[in-house]
Amino acid sequence: MFFQPLVNSRTYRVEGAEALARIRDGEGRLVSPALFIPAAEKSGHIIELGEQVLRKTCEFAATYDMDALGLKWINVNLSPIQCMQRDLGHKFARILDEYSVAPGLIHLEVTEQTIADFALLRHQISALESQGFSFVLDDYGTGYSNLTRVKHYPFTTIKLDMEVVWDYYRERDNLLPSIVQGFRSLGLSITAEGIETEEMAQALAEIGSDYLQGYHFSKPLPVDEFVRTYQRKKG
Ligand code: C2E
Ligand code: MG
Ligand code: MG
Repeated sequence: MFFQPLVNSRTYRVEGAEALARIRDGEGRLVSPALFIPAAEKSGHIIELGEQVLRKTCEFAATYDMDALGLKWINVNLSPIQCMQRDLGHKFARILDEYSVAPGLIHLEVTEQTIADFALLRHQISALESQGFSFVLDDYGTGYSNLTRVKHYPFTTIKLDMEVVWDYYRERDNLLPSIVQGFRSLGLSITAEGIETEEMAQALAEIGSDYLQGYHFSKPLPVDEFVRTYQRKKG
């Protein structure tokens, strides 16, 4: 598992992190999640993989001083395949209990692209939300979800897909700023993904992004390196 920081767009301080799965091939080289996540979704291994990432995240939160790292929460990606499990809510609650981690520390990211069974997904999200988990809509702007659906799901954060971010940066218009303002007026916070330069960070902060994520701040790091980097920076 790797962590990539999420920074406050005004202070540039780390406030959260996204947990990203990594596997290594026989020679120790990293394999891209773009390859193994779809394969794991097809084979059903995503259920185990997703649980492992949640467990490791809980273990991290139980082991390290989150405050000293500046971390208020950790985002964990949730595959739509996981959402199809009827007992997901109980399962996740049990895992958090095992590590004595408060659900408020975990923000679950669901991607817009593959939201298939909206009724079931909504039921699952509501069940987990009532246990204290928060939800982030990942990859906003690339998938199928429409504004009505977004409005009726209990998301607390909308994460703008990097394609949307880059497109706005290349060619500024009023569309993205208006969408961002619209979400904010509903009380949602906005994270912009794929921030690779200071100019992009400023442009996305200006239109109302609350959090920024991208290589400009840091690539995803192995957990021990994340700890070394951000503990040192704070002290
Ligand atoms: P995602 O959840 O949208 O994660 C963000 C991806 O953007 C990560 O790719 C991250 O490394 C990359 N990224 C971040 N900042 C930048 C930037 O400034 N520029 C560019 N070019 N890329 C940036 P990664 O780690 O390769 O993951 C790809 C996707 O795989 C994730 O997209 C997510 O959908 C999926 N994934 C990763 N880990 C998990 C997991 O534990 N469970 C599930 N279900 N999916 C996962
Ligand atoms: Mg994500
Ligand atoms: Mg994304």
